[in-house]
Amino acid sequence: MTAESSLHQLVANGVRDLRPYQPGKPVEELERELGISEIIKLASNENPRGASPRVENTLRDCANDLARYPDGSGFRLKTQLSAQLNVLPSQLTLGNGSNDVLDIITRCFVESRQGVVISEHAFAVYGLAAKSVDANLAIVPAIQFGHDLEAMREAINLDTRIVFIANPNNPTGTYVSQGKVEAFLSDLPDHVITVLDEAYFEYVRPFGVNDYPDGVALLTRFPNLIVTRTFSKAYGLAALRVGYAIATPEITEILNRVRPPFNVNSMGLAAAETALSDSDFISQCVTENAEQLFQLNQALVDLGLTTIPSVANFICVQVGSNASKIYELMLTEGVIVRPVGNYGLPEHLRITVGLPSENQKVIATLRKIISHLAEA
Ligand SMILES: *Cc1c(COP(=O)(O)O)cnc(C)c1O
Repeated sequence: MTAESSLHQLVANGVRDLRPYQPGKPVEELERELGISEIIKLASNENPRGASPRVENTLRDCANDLARYPDGSGFRLKTQLSAQLNVLPSQLTLGNGSNDVLDIITRCFVESRQGVVISEHAFAVYGLAAKSVDANLAIVPAIQFGHDLEAMREAINLDTRIVFIANPNNPTGTYVSQGKVEAFLSDLPDHVITVLDEAYFEYVRPFGVNDYPDGVALLTRFPNLIVTRTFSKAYGLAALRVGYAIATPEITEILNRVRPPFNVNSMGLAAAETALSDSDFISQCVTENAEQLFQLNQALVDLGLTTIPSVANFICVQVGSNASKIYELMLTEGVIVRPVGNYGLPEHLRITVGLPSENQKVIATLRKIISHLAEA
């Protein structure tokens, strides 16, 4: 046996055939490759306006105290979140991004060969978390690119432990309504935990959507529900990695058995507290996002393209069978978007809503590339 194949045998079931998560291309990498500096990145659904300007001072203060471990209980952030969400601090689990929380949840509730149910086109981290514990993954066909909760209910069996629902979903931008979510949760057997991933929660309502459920408000009626949210998107703190779960105190106690002791660092905790207190900044960002998404969508439609209706800060557009070619050509023009072939969407690209100037550039670039390809 070669060294390589014996190492292969050592790898845990579930991890053996895993492929790493593919992040959006970093700006610095493209800068190095192209030798240019005016690159725009609309590939990872970050807030193009960054975080609240108050965060900078907070971080400067933190920089004086880097020798100390962070507060492992996240006392201040949890106190602030609990007041804002109207839940108890004992209902909150902090994570190194909500990714961390999704992973912790999976490790707490799913054993080898037990089941996890997700939707086709769902956020990739659910499948990675499930496979890493050697779970059986049931992928339920989407309906108009969104989650089909009735079909997901039917995919549940005696071995199912977790159903992941992204609301809205990344990369499609689709959401499931209050009525559908309540009907789904009302009809669940007791051995199933539902994870409602609300990473884009803040963005949805400004679209005028009024049947979008607030997962936190459902917790009192559905004790097997876990809601996850993050500071990485609207709050503009993706670099600092802060996310959290809201659940019953009983579930939260279980999650905290597995949570690494200092999984959120001091700068992340402090920045999240400051960002949370600047509600004016968030409302400006989400209002501008709604306007810009509307315009971006219109401009894509004007190019003759079909989009998936989105209530988040990104949009999936169908550009055709040469999507990866278009993606590569956009890179050479200094524009990074996200190919979504690995999400079962080989003809689409996902574009994050940027600043108005960035959105104009992405449209101009796409227009140029599409007309070139049409002539060729
Ligand atoms: C971006 C995203 C997350 C959050 O990731 P963090 O680890 O909090 O940065 C979670 N779920 C979905 C669907 C996302 O798109």
